[in-house]
Amino acid sequence: MQVNDISRTKSAELYEKAKTYFPGGVNSPVRAFRSVYGTPLFIEKGDGSHLWDADGNEFIDFCGSWGPLILGHNHAAVRENVMRVMQKGMSFGAPTALENELAELILSNNRFIEKLRFVSSGTEAVMSAIRLARGYTKRDKILKFEGCYHGHTDSLLVKAGSGLVTFGETSSAGVPKPFADETVVIALNDEEALQKAFEDFSGQIAAVIIEPVPANNGLLLQTKDYLNYLRELCTLNGTLLIFDEVISGFRVGFEGAAGYYDIKPDIITYGKIIGGGLPVGAYGASAEIMDHISPVGSVYQAGTLSGNPVAMAAGIAQISELLQPGFYDKLNAKTADFVSDIRSHVAEKGYELEVFTIGSIFWFAFTNQVSITRADQIDPESMLKFKAMHRELINRGIYFGPSGYEVGFISAAHTQEDLERTKTAIFDSLEIVF
Ligand code: PLP
Repeated sequence: MQVNDISRTKSAELYEKAKTYFPGGVNSPVRAFRSVYGTPLFIEKGDGSHLWDADGNEFIDFCGSWGPLILGHNHAAVRENVMRVMQKGMSFGAPTALENELAELILSNNRFIEKLRFVSSGTEAVMSAIRLARGYTKRDKILKFEGCYHGHTDSLLVKAGSGLVTFGETSSAGVPKPFADETVVIALNDEEALQKAFEDFSGQIAAVIIEPVPANNGLLLQTKDYLNYLRELCTLNGTLLIFDEVISGFRVGFEGAAGYYDIKPDIITYGKIIGGGLPVGAYGASAEIMDHISPVGSVYQAGTLSGNPVAMAAGIAQISELLQPGFYDKLNAKTADFVSDIRSHVAEKGYELEVFTIGSIFWFAFTNQVSITRADQIDPESMLKFKAMHRELINRGIYFGPSGYEVGFISAAHTQEDLERTKTAIFDSLEIVF
């Protein structure tokens, strides 16, 4: 059944103003709705699994601020801890007990890292982890994978997934060639390419960085065998393995992808989720590796707002909720049921659509390939179907991130009623798309 387009009058007014202040009217490119229909929606408030825009339209949200809101919007425990701590001051540029408290919650429940550093974003976490790997190994080259995004650090903006692919580019202007030259890029899930890269750059690769659950160019799930092979080759070559778990950390399980696949990387980067919606990132490793960081070691890394008390308070409340017994079992089962119902419907209708999933992450791929493990297996034309579906979903009160290369997230706040309503909206939308 066809439905009318929602009103975007206020969002359109705000967008016109915003374009006079910010390039493209936004402070991060994908928010500009360039690859989906209509004016970007300006958000007024969020509560639980729901969002409201400036025109008063209400949505069930599956973007969750691009991942961190695993408890939903405005969770009472997070909000209350933030407000309690805020009353004592916002930033001291000096250590607080809150940093210890959050580190203790994380480290005592994670078998893969012994020490960490808090920073203020995923980009900063990755940038610092790369410098640490270079300082530790005394090598310069980094190996990354086509389609993996690791933040907007210069040398990692090479074939870097959604934000760039959405705009038809795979690298960024302004990255000096010598920086990009230090980055070796190969396809995901290709053992031969990996072996060849280690041969071609023998003794030169400081680190291999991978999203162990690549979720920035669709959801390109890797096999455990491949990740094990990667671990093996890194060890053999004296190269550090960095798992960028900015999306998968605390999402596919408390110990992230390292725990899910039971593979020990040398350094792990985290972001978003640790801050419960406030700006926090972290990188961690063994004490031996981490002690190469200043002021103990010679690798410099700093931050005025690193370990900010208000952000730590949000993180403490959020991480404590994630440690409740059964939290992930419940969330992941809810997601599996949701995806399974959609798959059954799609199979019955014979649509060319696959839904890929892991933990509480899902991705709609308009394809009949049953497995997609590399960025070049995605047909850019299929994004037109996503665009059509996105429009129909928005008009039915369902908010997916505004790019077909982005994944969706289910939070603990999504109720069964939300998911039933969403399935109906998806089925009605697909009827129109196909
Ligand atoms: N690494 C990964 C895997 C990400 O998904 C992102 C952001 O989405 C980043 C790094 C960068 O994090 P931030 O946007 O907090 O700088």
